[in-house]
Amino acid sequence: MIVTPVTKLLGIRVPIVQGGMQWVGVPSLAAAVSNAGGLGILTALTQPNPDALRDAIRETRRTTDKPFGVNITLLPTINPPDYEGFARAAVGEGVRIFETAGNNPKKLIAYLKGEGCIIIHKCTTIRHAKSAEKLGVDILSIDGFECAGHPGEEDVPGLVLLARAAQELKAPYLASGGIADSRGFVAALALGASGINMGTRFMCTIESPIHDRIKEKIVAASEQDTIHIFRTMHNTARVFKNKVSTEVVAIEQRPGAKFEDVRDLVSGQRGRQVYELGDPEYGIWSLGLAAGLIRDIPSCEDLVGRMEREAEEMMRGMSRHLKAKL
Ligand code: NAD
Repeated sequence: MIVTPVTKLLGIRVPIVQGGMQWVGVPSLAAAVSNAGGLGILTALTQPNPDALRDAIRETRRTTDKPFGVNITLLPTINPPDYEGFARAAVGEGVRIFETAGNNPKKLIAYLKGEGCIIIHKCTTIRHAKSAEKLGVDILSIDGFECAGHPGEEDVPGLVLLARAAQELKAPYLASGGIADSRGFVAALALGASGINMGTRFMCTIESPIHDRIKEKIVAASEQDTIHIFRTMHNTARVFKNKVSTEVVAIEQRPGAKFEDVRDLVSGQRGRQVYELGDPEYGIWSLGLAAGLIRDIPSCEDLVGRMEREAEEMMRGMSRHLKAKL
């Protein structure tokens, strides 16, 4: 058993948290991760409105009696979401674990803390992590530059960011970005993390709701197959490198390019169709460098169990190896 402050705070067996991924964090996946011993996360903005989130929470409860959380991400959007409505709906349904991410989370964190919730806040800089600590978040999720989606604008990879977290943070933290196997898991623990967060790895599981052809594309992908869009708009996102994302980057390079020039190409509704139709070229979809490590499509139970077992064996083996050298 790998017992850490995170397993104790969240009431889970294995310190592995599923990232709150747009269009992917749905009841079937969240319940499967929680049933496997980790923490499943429902993504609020994947639901069209707060009432639909209520239904998703109820559906998740029908398939797991284990803890799970809700992700609320505050980033630029084409249509402004009812963040407060989503938060109130989840709290009203009895959810007590939230993953927050993005810009200006102060009001949301204050509300959730006032409701007695446990907050995991995702950050891409130590500066933001320290501010979130002051706001009273319980767990930081330290997201290295390897991650899928939004890595921030400072480009610090996990190896340095996590070691900096060990120097600076008082609250327990998860390592996020670039982790897809037990080596990454053990490395994260060595870097002072109390657990890990995985997004791309959970996309490629049996219970993940995306089309099998996209899962197969991830298995076939290498760490060279991602690209950053929105670099010029202060909203960088790491996504799968395809015709659409390459075109977006080319448009961004034009003098005076604006978000409106790429809006139709990047819209989340178009990206959603990638997962539904199984066409990896159809739109923008998030993918982390961890894709290069993924070789199979296991069930969440097999994945979490394997990572737990291998991590324990690896830590015992390292200890024997070091003793033998002394
Ligand atoms: P969307 O269709 O509203 O926007 C598509 C993309 O364009 C998103 O990456 C968004 O951040 C970006 N964008 C929108 N307006 C912009 C602007 N004015 N300037 C620069 N960039 C802009 O997004 P969606 O797919 O419906 O997702 C909803 C929200 O969830 C977005 O903010 C998105 O970034 C965020 N998100 C969350 C997760 C998560 O893990 N929860 C994952 C991916 C995206």
